[in-house]
Amino acid sequence: MNNTFDLKKILRPHILTLAPYSSARDEYTGHVGIFLDANENPYGSVTEADYNRYPDPYQAEIKQKITVIKQVSADRIFLGNGSDEPIDLLTRATCSPGTDHVIIMPPTYGMYEVSASIHDVRIDKASLTTDYQIDVDAVLNAVKDNTKIIWICSPNNPTGNNMQDSAIETILNSFNGLVVVDEAYIDFTDKPSWVSRLDEFPNLVVLQTFSKAWGLAGLRVGMCFASVELVRILNKIKPPYNISLPAQQALLAGLEHITAKDNMVADILQERASLETSLLDLPIVVKIHPSDANFLLVQFEDAKAVMDYLINETIIVRDRSRVHLCEGCLRITVGTNKENEVLIDSLKKYQQKNVTV
Ligand SMILES: *Cc1c(COP(=O)(O)O)cnc(C)c1O
Repeated sequence: MNNTFDLKKILRPHILTLAPYSSARDEYTGHVGIFLDANENPYGSVTEADYNRYPDPYQAEIKQKITVIKQVSADRIFLGNGSDEPIDLLTRATCSPGTDHVIIMPPTYGMYEVSASIHDVRIDKASLTTDYQIDVDAVLNAVKDNTKIIWICSPNNPTGNNMQDSAIETILNSFNGLVVVDEAYIDFTDKPSWVSRLDEFPNLVVLQTFSKAWGLAGLRVGMCFASVELVRILNKIKPPYNISLPAQQALLAGLEHITAKDNMVADILQERASLETSLLDLPIVVKIHPSDANFLLVQFEDAKAVMDYLINETIIVRDRSRVHLCEGCLRITVGTNKENEVLIDSLKKYQQKNVTV
């Protein structure tokens, strides 16, 4: 690593010295006893299951399990209310409103920009190349003195492809701020996670989520892997009980079923391949971008008309047709075998009505 990254220079000054909210459960960690410290209801809950006690603020049991699955120590794991929460916390920890900058690489996931905008943080854009790879020169040229974060999404949403390791590595080595690699779709690709390289790069942050491959979007739990120092800061500024008790309980149970996750991923990958084949058979399809994720970015002759037709058939896909470099494209999530069949049948009907051969 040939840069001079110093987390203290990247954090907003007041965050370094901030005294966090000290919750009742921070001060006593024993298990047995009479808890009269948190103003909870001692009689139980109005529901059948009991939720009257506050949950573990640091989700120790869950992190213990993630440690084994991801091969990373527990003090490098931060859990958020979806990965949207660490995206927001990273922005707030590092960027002073009105002065600091972040870099995004459109077309990409919208929350980096939304989070920056909410906090009045300046956004510099370094467009991906036309084949959806990182334009390293454009990124490094966009770096200013007060650029704090570079957001990288790999596999990228909405384009579906992995970013080149060499490009990410160059940015990690050349930039003195945080480089966040969002790996929401990592389970659908063969590429290794950047989590295994945290030791090499103190400025590397990796995001993953339980919302996609694990099938737990409704629980709202996202993972952030980073240096011990940065995880400590994120813990300091998060809402104390950011992962609810039922979410923690359901996730603990879910983590026992890695095989079920792997089997679903295998099914989705198989469906992705056959969906791609069926789509390519349709003359209205111009192009399908190669995907390392659980969706396909598909260019149509008339994306808007296809979108409207599908909505009328109550099939909802994501319209990306007016997004930079995705012109004419719809983003289609890989569904079940049955759902994909219904989609293809609908598209065939559309084609018969609208295309004169
Ligand atoms: C879906 C997605 C997420 C997940 O967000 P959660 O808040 O964890 O549900 C994060 N990043 C990208 C790029 C995504 O597509």
